[in-house]
Amino acid sequence: MKPMGPIPPHFAGRETLTIAGQDAEHWIAEAGDTPLFVYDMGEVRARLARLRAAMPARLDIHYAIKANPHPQVLAAIAPLVDGFDLASGGELVKALAVKDAALVSFAGPGKRDDELELAIREGATLNLESEGEARRALAIGERLGKRPRLAVRVNPDFDLKGSGMKMGGRASPFGVDAARVPALVREIVASGADWRGFHIYAGSQALSAAAIIETQAATVALARRLADEAGAAAPHVNLGGGFGIPYFTGDEPVDVEAVGAALAETLDRDGVGETQYAIELGRWIVGECGVYLTRVVDVKESQGERFVVVDGGMHHQLAASGNFGTVVRRNYPIAVAGRMTGELAEVSVVGSLCTPLDRLGDKVGLPPIEVGDVIAVFLAGAYGLTASPGLFLGHPAARELVVNA
Ligand SMILES: *Cc1c(COP(=O)(O)O)cnc(C)c1O
Repeated sequence: MKPMGPIPPHFAGRETLTIAGQDAEHWIAEAGDTPLFVYDMGEVRARLARLRAAMPARLDIHYAIKANPHPQVLAAIAPLVDGFDLASGGELVKALAVKDAALVSFAGPGKRDDELELAIREGATLNLESEGEARRALAIGERLGKRPRLAVRVNPDFDLKGSGMKMGGRASPFGVDAARVPALVREIVASGADWRGFHIYAGSQALSAAAIIETQAATVALARRLADEAGAAAPHVNLGGGFGIPYFTGDEPVDVEAVGAALAETLDRDGVGETQYAIELGRWIVGECGVYLTRVVDVKESQGERFVVVDGGMHHQLAASGNFGTVVRRNYPIAVAGRMTGELAEVSVVGSLCTPLDRLGDKVGLPPIEVGDVIAVFLAGAYGLTASPGLFLGHPAARELVVNA
């Protein structure tokens, strides 16, 4: 048997799975069918309350909406966070439906002129990814007779150690190399645009508090140095995020209380008085709130191996198949929803797609499984449906239920 990651504590330790107080079949009946994503917003509220309590009072908390952009998820989170960060014109439209434009910032390389124009018209902040993008934004502002709200995304000269996805310390399509930032800031300020400050994002999916603490301190110091060199204070500094969640065996959750205490010290020591600091988190806020439910269609044997075939798969939950941002395939936590305890036998849980990549559990230990049972794949609240190749092979779309909203 191969190990799997830890089931999130609020779902673990029961005989049958319950989500927001109801069993899986209840939610499937409510949605109409499997495959189904259920997102428990009660869980999200509890996590955000814990995060607020842990972080310094002067720190803003933003939600990076690409982790889960479901409209009801956005509506539930909007009143609980100080800003939304996003990275496409489509996400901008969704964000503006529930959040004031002044609290929305738009990063991402390759913003088209029509996306820049929408942001400038509506008054969202642009996190500029290059000098070329800055000049296009200034020209569009001029044409519209509107002062664009402009921040610069910095490609830092360090990365977030131990992060699953490194976003700094190297040549990058993201942001402007730190050495060229002061000149760009001077150009933006001289143009008369509304100068908003810096966006510095060094990586994602880090579990080590020590690594996050070190990166945050380096980020605060970098923003201060860049503002000094540019001769322009930064009204706002987005310190990035990168808080991970435990997906795999041996992973431990981030000690957010330790991170918050250290960040309070960093800001007291190195923070600039007139600067509003923020962090932006996606998966840490929503990842553990979601469960993907998929029904067993077939159970079969091949050369001594037992396969459980389900009606969902990597077209809805790509990350659980190991094909989204991991080098080595490891098992996400999964369970039989109606039978979470019992004697374990080795099975491989495979999706319905006609490709060997579609494997949700590789040689995992699960209680006895029959056709008609429901398999729960945990950690499906972030980078699930919208980060999966939904059109591949033409199976039906997954349903989504936002509960406890
Ligand atoms: C993806 C992304 C995030 C969110 O990352 P998580 O790992 O989900 O917290 C935050 N900021 C930027 C710039 C991103 O690209």
